Amino acid sequence: MIKFSDKNLSPIYEKIRENSRLDFEDGLKLFRSNDLIGLGSLASLVREKLHNKKVYYVFNQHVNYSNICLNLCKFCAFGKPPGDPEAYALNIEEIVKKLKENPSPIQEIHIVGGLHPTLPYDFYLELLKTLKREFPQAQLKAFTCVEIDHLAKISSKGIEEVLKDLKEAGLSCLPGGGAEVFSERIRKKLCPNKITGKRWLEIARTAHKLGIPTNATMLYGHIETYEERLEHLIALRKLQDETGGFLCFIPLPFLPQKSYLKKEVAPTTGFEDLKMMAVARLMLDNIPHLKAYWIFLGIKLAQVALHFGANDLHGTVYEEKISDFSGGETKKALSRKEIERIIREAGFEPVERDALYNPLS
Ligand code: SF4
Repeated sequence: MIKFSDKNLSPIYEKIRENSRLDFEDGLKLFRSNDLIGLGSLASLVREKLHNKKVYYVFNQHVNYSNICLNLCKFCAFGKPPGDPEAYALNIEEIVKKLKENPSPIQEIHIVGGLHPTLPYDFYLELLKTLKREFPQAQLKAFTCVEIDHLAKISSKGIEEVLKDLKEAGLSCLPGGGAEVFSERIRKKLCPNKITGKRWLEIARTAHKLGIPTNATMLYGHIETYEERLEHLIALRKLQDETGGFLCFIPLPFLPQKSYLKKEVAPTTGFEDLKMMAVARLMLDNIPHLKAYWIFLGIKLAQVALHFGANDLHGTVYEEKISDFSGGETKKALSRKEIERIIREAGFEPVERDALYNPLS
């Protein structure tokens, strides 16, 4: 029996014990509750049922091939217009060289970038083919739904055809970015040039139907309401009922420090980050994994998040540029030994996995 300081959590506890789905109103009660320990206890019940003491991580590297972007979303400090002194684009040779500088063999290569105005469609296919050839053991987790839409535009192909081409070139799964918050109100204000939430979901649905699993993110802690967060979570849950193709949900706290919103929005607090994690675990009853993305949360808070529903600590990383540009202060890589210590000290059992969440022996 859990003792709650917020009496609104008791009926939700009963629903969880009966495996009943939580609805929008339940979600609002969770978000409005300040009984953080109660929320963590509820989320831990669910994560224990799904994963017992297991916490996953992957031995991976990130590739941010270019930050030049046509969209220039207001919350993004990574995307730069062409000609900006901080703009860069790596060629395939440079990417391979950078990957080879770090420890190997890599299990997963995580590839995302801006919407580059002139890189041709073949660059993306060639990039995957080359990485597959150079790192045959690595699974390629590449391109957000926003990039997939861009590739459809520059190739004049449909998204299904683009996804098939990428799969043939070596793609294993999609990383899940670009979802932000699906609300039209938010997108109009913060990222008017970005694809709509509806289009994002359509691309994820198409990928799932082609046997390409994806992850899903939500960028929270800017100008969205709790209601808009819940609409986002429920839209993902609905699509997952239909396709079963989401592997993992990743709540991403907004890092305002270097964005256009730095004067209007304060960074999230640890309290809000842990609450978000717990609510995600409770609402997304059909998405198996929940990630504490240590690059944005910080290592210490990501460790605590394991007691708030998270069962995945992402990976060892190396070379990640998005949080660099956004003012993230967390160190840039973890060794296997460090990541396993973080998991064990929190009372869990580390499980090294591949990009598709298969445990590695
Ligand atoms: S969030 Fe993505 S699409 Fe928006 S500016 Fe940044 S890189 Fe470009």
